[in-house]
Amino acid sequence: MKKHNFSAGPCILPQEVLLKASEAVMDFNNDGLSLLEISHRSKPFVDVMEKARSLALELLGLEGKGYKALFLQGGASTQFLMVALNLLEKRAGYLNTGTWSDKAIKEARIFDDVYEVASSKSANYNYIPKGYEIPSEYDYFHCTSNNTIFGTQMKSFPSCDIPMVCDMSSDIFSRTLDFTQFDLIYAGAQKNMGPAGTTLVVVKEDILGKVSRKIPSMMDYKVHIDKGSMFNTPPVFAVYVSMLTLEWLKNLGGIKAIEEQNEMKARVMYSELDLNPLFKGYAVKEDRSLMNATFNLTNDNLKETFETMLKEAGISGLNGHRSVGGYRASMYNALPLESVKALVEVMSELETKA
Ligand code: PMP
Repeated sequence: MKKHNFSAGPCILPQEVLLKASEAVMDFNNDGLSLLEISHRSKPFVDVMEKARSLALELLGLEGKGYKALFLQGGASTQFLMVALNLLEKRAGYLNTGTWSDKAIKEARIFDDVYEVASSKSANYNYIPKGYEIPSEYDYFHCTSNNTIFGTQMKSFPSCDIPMVCDMSSDIFSRTLDFTQFDLIYAGAQKNMGPAGTTLVVVKEDILGKVSRKIPSMMDYKVHIDKGSMFNTPPVFAVYVSMLTLEWLKNLGGIKAIEEQNEMKARVMYSELDLNPLFKGYAVKEDRSLMNATFNLTNDNLKETFETMLKEAGISGLNGHRSVGGYRASMYNALPLESVKALVEVMSELETKA
């Protein structure tokens, strides 16, 4: 029986995507060869790459607006340094909303000056700072749209007249936004887009080429753009599964359609958290993430009972990150509402037992 998969990432993918992906591993396009055995320069794979790149732009509403989509390697963590290498000339402003923002800041500081415009570190990142200034002489502003570990999400973005860079690893393709407000978006595939192994970068071309340093080829967005995201051998399987997942999302009705489902799942989850006295949410209410709900038991003596009940109900991946503890229900695009209902049922059953 398929488990209810609340894993924070890598995480649940649509069943039909897994099925198509497994077929392609055995025989791609009924051509007598596995997807994993063909050249990345062969037409069938070049078509996959092109489709994945154009679907990403189409779903974000960025087609024909000066943006390019790339499927790179090295995870979102490599983007922490690639962003700085390509855009940081003198000084950049970073919003520190969690472990991943903090890591992005640390990497950028290797290359030049980074200023934290605001930080929620002293509150162990349980909220999103607001009302900060972004000096217009900075090279760019960097933020993290969804904080996977702490369960907070930016509901709005500052208007700024310098390029805005956003790490959307854990909420890309999950909600409608005006994506033209961003000049560079990056996201590891392993949440809403596909398996681990590739990272989507969507970049507005006109922000590139403005730094004076020499950029190593593999780190240079321009090189990857010029080579159609094929400067070196791409992670073929991860790109193919990402393409299938983006196709699945498009057929479902795109981001608008999945946003409605995500809002519904979050409503069910958070209403139980707020009604049930045995649980307490971690993030402040107004900043709660639609993707990752973080919470604790109010009475630790119930831990064993709760976890046994979760296991019996086939609920998996609910453990919180070690820096927060407690529980984290990750409700990415492919998680069905039924899974959230199954979890909520266990939570309310615990209340009747306690
Ligand atoms: N940013 C965010 C918001 C993340 O959630 C993660 C991983 N969970 C990362 C960056 C790092 O991604 P990767 O492991 O692909 O380097």
